Amino acid sequence: MLIAAAECAPFVKVGGLADVVGALPKYLKKLGIEARVIMPLHRQIKEKYFDQMQHICDFQASLGWRSQYVGVERMEFDGCVFYFIDNEFYFGGPIYCGGEFEGEQYAFFTRAVMDCIPQLDFQPRILHCNDWHTAMMPLLVKTQYQGGMQSGLKTVLTIHNLKFQGQFSHEFDRDLLRVDDSLATPQFIEHYGCDNMLKAGIVFADKVNTVSPTYSQEICGPAMGERLDGVLRSRGGDLWGILNGLDNDAWDPRTDPELPVHYSAENLEGKAQVKAALLEELGLAPAPEGEEVPVIGMVGRLTPQKGIDLVKRVLDEIMAENVRVIMLGSGDAEYEDFFRDAENRYKGRLCSYIGYNGPLSHRIYAGSDLFLMPSLFEPCGLSQIIAMRYGTLPIVRETGGLKDTVHPWNEFTGEGNGFSFANYNAHEMLDCIRYALYTWWNKDAREILVKNALATDYGFDLCARTYAEFYRTLGA
Ligand code: ADP
Repeated sequence: MLIAAAECAPFVKVGGLADVVGALPKYLKKLGIEARVIMPLHRQIKEKYFDQMQHICDFQASLGWRSQYVGVERMEFDGCVFYFIDNEFYFGGPIYCGGEFEGEQYAFFTRAVMDCIPQLDFQPRILHCNDWHTAMMPLLVKTQYQGGMQSGLKTVLTIHNLKFQGQFSHEFDRDLLRVDDSLATPQFIEHYGCDNMLKAGIVFADKVNTVSPTYSQEICGPAMGERLDGVLRSRGGDLWGILNGLDNDAWDPRTDPELPVHYSAENLEGKAQVKAALLEELGLAPAPEGEEVPVIGMVGRLTPQKGIDLVKRVLDEIMAENVRVIMLGSGDAEYEDFFRDAENRYKGRLCSYIGYNGPLSHRIYAGSDLFLMPSLFEPCGLSQIIAMRYGTLPIVRETGGLKDTVHPWNEFTGEGNGFSFANYNAHEMLDCIRYALYTWWNKDAREILVKNALATDYGFDLCARTYAEFYRTLGA
């Protein structure tokens, strides 16, 4: 199996896609399935790991009228094999730069991957593509590589986020990837006047999946189908919803090297110490002597998807409660400015860390009491799963993977691992936050909830087993 993706942890990570692609080969290996990853040799990776890589081959790939250098490098990491496509012109800048150049970068990557397959030191039978950046590969397998070694490949497309589709003019695709004019029809790749790369993957892949059961249902309807619901419905039983898992080894409060103190369900004292150290690290006021104060954490991309508009709407009401708030994230300028301003207005009680900081994220997951994630939509979401793994109670909107993983607290039965609300409405979220705070102040309820959250297991083993079953349906 060859897994093609734009990002993969720990090499480069923008979002949950990287976590999943990083963990999948490791956990498939435990099941006796060999999976290797192929990805761009982004500048950050070249700087850090190039001297550990072995050169496999190089050749020129044709990209329309251009002829471009392709270097293929190989590296073993954590018992798995990774291939990297080297080209400094395409991968010397940001991972996702947007616009037409991003389309060209990944058209190049697509061609490079397809052309290098016969030269690799193993022969995959399945090509597992991820999101629009690699979604043209199934189309190329079926329309341009028949007769070649690649023609026997079965293809799978995983949709990590339907919102991003890779829409370009047909002239662009024809020029770069030699996509035949006969394919530029609604039956294949044409979509509302453009070629749509994600649609190409949905139409041409042998199987398609998304990253949670609820999201796989939601995207088959017009409200959340991002105008691809009809195409998705047409794939019927070929569309699976496989819940992402968490790499429990990489996220473990008992061993996490980013934490100043370790803890477990049996001994939670360390969690309080991590919280105190976190408040100090970020310059937030501790609770007055002999008292407590709940910390609400947030980690994620600052985009409309993450429900930031709801937070903007009622932040003042949230801050009227006895709380500390920590937000780590970057994204849309409007949201970044809002949080910078909020930090000024609530000095010592609210910290906005604008940027990307992996180590700090670990301390926020561990040192917070509650974790807010009120997404507008959420294909799976890893942050809420990580929060629970650290005994931090998620407050989420009931959508996609959030609905599949967070079970709301039931004060009558003592069941539940967090809090949730149904509608995309700021005051409904506020009520839910207030209820979560009220519950947190009840020490008996808090203890049960924290134990329930820590007992929640969304480890990668189940996810890998489900992928194994999914691959088996291909008969490869
Ligand atoms: P998405 O893939 O939509 O961004 P997920 O919840 O699936 O959302 O995954 C996000 C991942 O990226 C999590 O592991 C989260 O901790 C991490 N992350 C997001 N923003 C930041 C940030 N600013 N700093 C550190 N880690 C971040």
